[in-house]
Amino acid sequence: MDLPEYAYFRGEIVPYGEAKVGVLTHALNYGTAAFGGIRGYWNDEQEQLFLFRPIDHYERFLNSGRLLCSENTHTAEGLRDITLQLLRKEGLKEDCYIRPLLYKSDEIIGVRLHDLTDDISIVAVPFGKYVQSDTGAHVTFSSWRRVDDNAMPARGKISGAYVNTAFVKTDALRGGFDEALVLNNDGHLAEGSAENVFMMRNGVLNTPPITDNILEGITRRTVIELAQAELGLEVMERSIDRTEVYLCDELFLTGTAAQITAVTRVDFRDIGTGEMGPVTRQLREIYEKIVRGQDSKYTHWIEAVYESESVAVK
Ligand code: PMP
Repeated sequence: MDLPEYAYFRGEIVPYGEAKVGVLTHALNYGTAAFGGIRGYWNDEQEQLFLFRPIDHYERFLNSGRLLCSENTHTAEGLRDITLQLLRKEGLKEDCYIRPLLYKSDEIIGVRLHDLTDDISIVAVPFGKYVQSDTGAHVTFSSWRRVDDNAMPARGKISGAYVNTAFVKTDALRGGFDEALVLNNDGHLAEGSAENVFMMRNGVLNTPPITDNILEGITRRTVIELAQAELGLEVMERSIDRTEVYLCDELFLTGTAAQITAVTRVDFRDIGTGEMGPVTRQLREIYEKIVRGQDSKYTHWIEAVYESESVAVK
């Protein structure tokens, strides 16, 4: 991966090489950080870069910080504006990924959340596909369980909790799969390693509820709204058993990085016909238009980078 040219670091935009922390940094030692992930989509025709739902992402980012007792005074709008400035300086004219990080920056020994300094950094890098086979992924049920809300809240993007994700992902890839599904401690489906999950069964679109140890995904929220408004589907947020997944008609993963990834095999069993299903296909098409600013109904979700003012395109 090419490194970015600039970073937002300690309150200003600096050359990336100057955005350095010491090895004693609290977050590096104890995982006491929270991060975000926002996509920027390049529209060639309009020569414009669009951010997808930056305010929603930054609200969740700040909420993750609240879980970590962060006392920073940033607002979602302020962070969005810094991101726009950073992107203009970086001059990216291709699909990209923005990574904000809120971290306990003190260089001290001692595990805790309070009485520590919360710093925020932001960088942007060019970014393509996250799941390569996103039109027909083969996934497995991980032998790892999702972190539990009473141990490490999955609803926040807390850096330390992503060791759980790393266990899940490495074992899935080493096993020859594209991704993994993760069960929670009750044995119900929680999510993918870094994606939420949806299942079409008997004409209803089902997804695990936010009380089943999932990240409250922005793409999940987007897909729920689109499935209802654009496809007229009934959407149910309910606990899902493992074997329902084996029997379902369509399965897909959603996430900023994974976008809408069709899953066509689970543990060597075909899902439905073994090909991407019609609901997944339609949602992917609608989503792709929206994120690139080609659907006038949903321009309130996107934000143009290369305009003098940070206003959503109308
Ligand atoms: N679950 C986990 C564990 C994730 O890391 C992500 C990626 N942020 C998601 C779900 C999807 O969330 P979003 O749609 O907001 O990117």
